[in-house]
Amino acid sequence: MDILIEGYRQFRQKTWPEDRARYEALATWGQSPHTLVISCSDSRVDPQTVFGAVPGELFVIRNVAGLVPPYTPDAGYHGTSAALEYGVRVLGVSRVVVLGHAQCGGVRGMVEGVPPEAQDFVAPWVEIARPALDVPPPEHAHVLTHYENEVVRLSLTNLLTFPWIAQAVREGRLELGGFRFDIHTGELSRLAESGFVPVT
Ligand SMILES: [Zn+2]
Repeated sequence: MDILIEGYRQFRQKTWPEDRARYEALATWGQSPHTLVISCSDSRVDPQTVFGAVPGELFVIRNVAGLVPPYTPDAGYHGTSAALEYGVRVLGVSRVVVLGHAQCGGVRGMVEGVPPEAQDFVAPWVEIARPALDVPPPEHAHVLTHYENEVVRLSLTNLLTFPWIAQAVREGRLELGGFRFDIHTGELSRLAESGFVPVT
């Protein structure tokens, strides 16, 4: 645990004095994040870092491959859907964004097969993205990049299966967006009509 304790000490010495007022305000008034982000659990893709945000701004859901399941209100343990419900309906975020990324191990698992050690939960989880695999990559396209991007589109499509998300979008209270982060170059792209376009 030493690495974590040491990290905390640095936070306490350096970050806390600078950000203390912000934390105190957040504690006093509660959180009011403007955006909900769904991203991959990948340790290299931190939404707060990528979007230059500070604590209190982003309500973040991270899971394997940054997937949004379809709306399935039943007795299952729907962690991602629960967080979506809380962020959208209780906190009233103004936008929901799906942040995909390059070199996604989850997407690789969908395309090439999930590791044998990850069959209990990862294998059934990534089945959410099965419909995205039905879209074949264009000729000369990088296969994994293509599927990483299709998975973002699928998650955005699935967001609209949640009736209270679809309604909020219709009424102009909620904006949806898709992004892709390239770990190697540090570049962010945004999903537009024509595909993913670099953010300049
Ligand atoms: Zn990933």
